[in-house]
Amino acid sequence: MFWPVCREVVRGMNNYDVIIAGAGSLGVPTALALGDTGARVLVADARPSPGQGENKHAIGGIRATHSTPGKILCGLRSLEIFSTWQAEHGDNIEWLEGGYLFPVYRKAEETALKGILPIQKKYGLDIDFIGPEAVAARMPGIVTAGLKGGTFSPGDGSASPLLAINAFYRKACTKGVDFRFNEKIRRITTESGRVTGIETDRGKIAAPVVVDAAGAYSRPLGKTAGIDIPVVPDSHEGAITEPVEPFFTCMVVDLRPGEGSKNYYFYQNLHGQVVFCITPDPPIIGTDHRETSIFLPQVCKRMVGLVPRLKNIRVRRVWRGLYPMSPDGAPLVGWNSRLAGLFHVTGMCGQGYMLGPGIGEVAARAINAAGRESDAVILREFSPDREFGGEETLK
Ligand SMILES: Cc1cc2nc3c(=O)[nH]c(=O)nc-3n(C[C@H](O)[C@H](O)[C@H](O)COP(=O)(O)OP(=O)(O)OC[C@H]3O[C@@H](n4cnc5c(N)ncnc54)[C@H](O)[C@@H]3O)c2cc1C
Repeated sequence: MFWPVCREVVRGMNNYDVIIAGAGSLGVPTALALGDTGARVLVADARPSPGQGENKHAIGGIRATHSTPGKILCGLRSLEIFSTWQAEHGDNIEWLEGGYLFPVYRKAEETALKGILPIQKKYGLDIDFIGPEAVAARMPGIVTAGLKGGTFSPGDGSASPLLAINAFYRKACTKGVDFRFNEKIRRITTESGRVTGIETDRGKIAAPVVVDAAGAYSRPLGKTAGIDIPVVPDSHEGAITEPVEPFFTCMVVDLRPGEGSKNYYFYQNLHGQVVFCITPDPPIIGTDHRETSIFLPQVCKRMVGLVPRLKNIRVRRVWRGLYPMSPDGAPLVGWNSRLAGLFHVTGMCGQGYMLGPGIGEVAARAINAAGRESDAVILREFSPDREFGGEETLK
């Protein structure tokens, strides 16, 4: 592993083309993509190193298996970046191509999953509805009584969030991107309706463009410039077990609702540890990061109900983090229409880690006015100005 020395940020050198607020799942890949354009880019974060916000709370799932064009296209590009990273750049980010498996026991999930297959295939996803035997072969030990089959997408996978973001960070450094850590942004500075830079707890830094990559904290950041960004922190817990002999490689997503919860999902990482999460219902809004006594009994009961052999594995660690939730479960990507120079890459919900590299490239092209035809589809779908009406099937 090599650690390039980041360009030294000389105090007082405070003029940039773009300042990115937040060195997380979105900020770092966006900086990496902007680094390729020759722009002078600064990333500022209140925390001491990259990925110390919600990025490190992600369990590492990466899929292009979504149900809308924008998410599918960004997911596919992200998958390409994650899956080829080691071959292209040398860092092992623990990429595991195990696929995503959505087992189906009820008509409701069967109809929903089969209903989105046409759009998934149209946008290039390798995915199919497979029979119960094929599902059981992918997830040995899964309960087969009532199993109707499920969808399986072999190209999806997982990678370590901390290894990946540090690999992206080191690469961004080699492209001349500056990073400032332990530096809280107090406000976005403005003049005559346009962005002029940021003010941190160490002083002012000028730039005509500020990228809001503050995730769960986008709303308070936006407020400093009089902008309301409809992103709220939504609390989710995750856990990891002791390592055991590898016996499955896919991410298993059970979409059925349970008591106090919606879906839950789990996979076995390259070390043999099972990593898992559940979606609380109703959502738990707020920034509390303390683990609860509800999560483990709730999720373990459901996992063991689905795959009884999991009952013998011991849990090693539990944590709690925040989804930056948008009103409809889709990201906010694009220029702010009320404050010139403010660009959003936020509201990633439970998918910021997997969408980060793909969205980072779209954002970099949009900031450089060098968008591609497919970017228009993505930017329309993720427009910060859209009507927040619907909700995505695979949110
Ligand atoms: C339990 C759990 C499991 C998850 N699993 C997955 C998964 O498998 N796959 C997936 O894709 N996603 C997953 N997620 C979601 C994922 O973690 C988030 O969507 C993603 O990290 C959000 O990225 P972000 O860049 O918006 O925010 P962050 O990664 O949190 O980055 C925002 C950064 O902005 C900084 N910041 C904010 N305000 C300021 C300020 N005023 N000044 C300076 N710095 C500031 C923060 O310090 C932070 O570093 C999971 C989340 C949780 C909680």
